[in-house]
This record gives sequence, C-alpha cells and structure tokens, in this order.
Amino acid sequence: MLVLEKLRQYAGASRVALVNREKRLTYRQLEERSGAFAAWLLDHLGEDRSPVVIYGEKETDFLCCMLGALKSGRAYVPIDRSVPRERAAMILEAVQPRVAVDFGGLGAQGSALVLDAVSLEEILSAPARPIPSDCWVQGQDTAYLLFTSGSTGAPKGVVVTAANLEAFCRGVLPWYAGQEGGVVLNQVSYSFDVSGCAVYAGLSCGMTLFCVDKQMTREFRELFQALGDSGLTLWVSTPSFAELCAQSRQFDAALLPGVRQFLFCGEVLTHTLCEELAVRFPGARVVNTYGPTEATVLVTAVEVTEAMRRSERSIPIGAPIAGVQLRLEGEEGGAGELVILGPSVGPGYFGRPDLTARSFFTDPATGLRGYRTGDLCFEREDLYYYQGRADNQLKLDGFRVEVEDVEANLQKLPNVSRAAVVPVWSGGKVQYLAAFLLLKEPDGLSSLKRAIQLKKQAAAYLPDYMIPRKLFAVESFPLNVNGKVDKKALARRLEVEGR
Ligand code: AMP
Repeated sequence: MLVLEKLRQYAGASRVALVNREKRLTYRQLEERSGAFAAWLLDHLGEDRSPVVIYGEKETDFLCCMLGALKSGRAYVPIDRSVPRERAAMILEAVQPRVAVDFGGLGAQGSALVLDAVSLEEILSAPARPIPSDCWVQGQDTAYLLFTSGSTGAPKGVVVTAANLEAFCRGVLPWYAGQEGGVVLNQVSYSFDVSGCAVYAGLSCGMTLFCVDKQMTREFRELFQALGDSGLTLWVSTPSFAELCAQSRQFDAALLPGVRQFLFCGEVLTHTLCEELAVRFPGARVVNTYGPTEATVLVTAVEVTEAMRRSERSIPIGAPIAGVQLRLEGEEGGAGELVILGPSVGPGYFGRPDLTARSFFTDPATGLRGYRTGDLCFEREDLYYYQGRADNQLKLDGFRVEVEDVEANLQKLPNVSRAAVVPVWSGGKVQYLAAFLLLKEPDGLSSLKRAIQLKKQAAAYLPDYMIPRKLFAVESFPLNVNGKVDKKALARRLEVEGR
C-alpha cells in the first residue's frame, strides 16, 4: 500500500507526521507505534482477521491504530465519539470485532477485548518489530469499514478495500502537486471518508497532519490561535467548516499565509463561499471535489475559476479524476443519475448483499465495478454539475443523513408512536431538521419542555447532528393522494407558522 510504503520511506528523517495540540508525532514514531500495534494484533489474533474497532475522536494514537491494523492485514472500523453508545453497539454487533480500542466512552462490548488508553500505551510503546509488507492489507482485502446513515435506522457499513484506496491515491495525488512536505488540515472525523484526503493522500506525500478537534471548533479564540500557529499549506474540509470559520473576520490570508489551496468535498460548495475566499485568500486556489464513501472519498475535481464564481450555474463538481469513468442514466429534464465506474468503487455494504445489489454492479462491457449514486447531475463542456438527490438522503453541516434513519430512531422514544422529519432549506442547503411526532399519550408538558425532554431522549440513539432542532407534537399527519404522510404539507406548515 502506497501510504505504508511512504511511511517507511519517511521514517528515516525527523519529519513530523502529525501535530495534535501540544503533541507531535514524527514519521518514525508513527511507523514504530503502528508497527507495534500490528505486531500485537498478529500475536494476539493469529489467523483471525476480524476488523478492529477504534472509538474516539482525534487522539494522536487513533492514527497509529488505523495504520497498525492495515499493517497487520486487518481492516479497521473508526467510530466517532459523537456516536452514542447505543448506535455504536449496533455497529459492533454487525462487525463482531475481537479487539476494540476505546479512547474513552465506549465501555464493555460483548466478547470483544476492549483496550483502554493505558493498555494501548503498553502495546504501542513495545520495542519496534518490522512488519513484512506481505502481511499488510492488499488488493481486495478490506482496508476500512465506514458506517454511514442507513434508511432503516441502523447505520450501514461501506466496505473499502486496499485496491480502492490505492486507486483513490493515484487519482487524487495530481491535486497535491507542490504540497510535498507541507501541512494539511486534519479536521474531518476519521469516521468520515473526507478525512482520507489528509490521512492517505497527505501522508503519501510526506505532509504533516494538523489536527483540529471538536473542542477547538467550539471555541473560536482557541481555534484561530491554533490555526495561526499551524503553518497550514492545504486546507481540506467540508464547505460547512470553512463557512463556520468565515463567520470570523480573522479568517484570512494574514492568519493563514501559507495556504495555497482549499480542497472541498462532501456537500454543495456555494458561490458565496467561493467569493469570500477569493477576497480573503487572493493567492490561494479553490478546488471543489465530489464523491460518495462507496467510491472512496472523491471521484471528481475542478479548480474554481473566476468565471465559475460569476456564472449563474452552480459551482461544478468537476471532471473525473484519473481512473474514474462517469455516466448519467435515466436523463430526464436535463439531469440524470450519476453512475461511477472504476477501481475506486468498493465491493458494497458490509453483510448486506440486498442493499449492495441495489446500488452496485459489475459493468459487463468493461468489467469495471459500478455504483449508482442517487445523485442527480448534468454535464456541460466536460464538467459535471450536481442537482440534488433522487431520494431522501441529505447533507447537514457536511454530514450524510437519511431522513428515515432519524425517523426510525425517534420512534424508539418511549412516548413517540410515529415521527415525520422534514429538512428546512435556505441559501441552497439544509439548515436544520424539524420533526413532527405523534405521541402515544398526552404528556401535559409545554412545547418547550417537551422538545427539551425529547432531544435528551433522542441523544441516546442519535449523534448530535442528526437530532432535529425543532420538534412538534401533532394530533395527526396530513396525508397525500397516495395515503402517505404529506411532507410538503408539513414543510408548508413550518413556513406558515414561522416556526
Ligand atoms: P459521503 O458518503 O458522506 O461522502 O456523502 C456522499 C454524498 O455527498 C454524495 O452522494 C453527494 O450527495 C454529496 N456530495 C459530496 N460531494 C459533493 C459536492 N461537491 N457537491 C454536492 N454534493 C456533494
């Protein structure tokens, strides 16, 4: 694997691989600590290849565990701490790991051996033992499983292989030209694949990963102080995170003089943000990229030009990166469903052949693996433009959410019999979710107290970003001609009542 080869190559020098607040990890330390974890997994698990779960956030050793698992020939399953225990337990139930690393908050999980920070330190600081590259994950071996929102209310696991990751790196590295030895922002959670732009592409060209954790993003002063000291040369994030930073006047080239490129992925990039960045960072280029987890991080890219910023059309998602083929199916009214073909398209969903068969296929003409994205797009002058979804999947602050997932989990609350969730749009993106709930019995609470109570209950099942900002109890749902809950009528009700 390219990243593991590069890690070995850079380990000789005193190059810094990761900066996490006051901690620094050199490439050598990363090589040694990931190697020590791999050696322990090989000794401890022998032939057992079950994936290794890692629960935490941006802890320095999270990265050592991810790469250590890969070196030992095992996949890893990163779970962000914002995922409540109940939901994390569903993932563990599906994966059945023998080993889980817990950076705090996961606790005992079935028969898995849970390593806390203390036992992990003992393992990682053991004397280095080189792990021969024929032990590493390779080809069709699973490299990671990422669990994303699933429409049944349980998260669904996307399988990504070593070959998929190699294809991603080959395709994206031309967009990293001139970044060798620079500093890349490492803010996206490891449980979302956009983080691969820092981890896999960044480490493959000897960059330093500069960590920004959730605590920092909550406190602007701390965040800007950290960014000011970062030496960042490449900004990678969802547009939402850059929009959050741009709320402060401080976010400009004086704060980040080294940033030569912004690379965005994961959701719609607006003209407004592009204009802001052009004014605040006149020397930096802005690159929009697009891709679903199922096809490994990103499959298109484009540098945003002044003409694009000024155009009436949306900002394009770009042209396919090397190795990727795209086609549009079922074109109607100018847009069709985007289908991705190529070596970065994964094998499918973990343990769900039914779901896999619905969206993945092998193209008989080319033999390439294909994935139907559910994204509606059109093409003009060799660039693709995103037009929205064909289903109820949406992006909320850059997070992928299936509306039915939120509904199914709200229906688990003790006094809720049915839930209907409606996204509230403004400025071309979803601002928040509103939930309409049929209660099992009257609770005698004021609307405010009820909303507070329901949100608290929902936090047991849903990560923060999936909890609707507004919750209303209703006596009945409006129905459409098909007898289904009329979501459009609910959305209108929100507008009319100015809620
Ligand atoms: P995820 O698997 O979390 O990366 O989410 C993938 C989905 O995010 C895609 O199927 C799109 O709906 C959306 N998406 C990703 N990148 C972009 C982009 N640049 N513009 C618009 N939507 C995007």
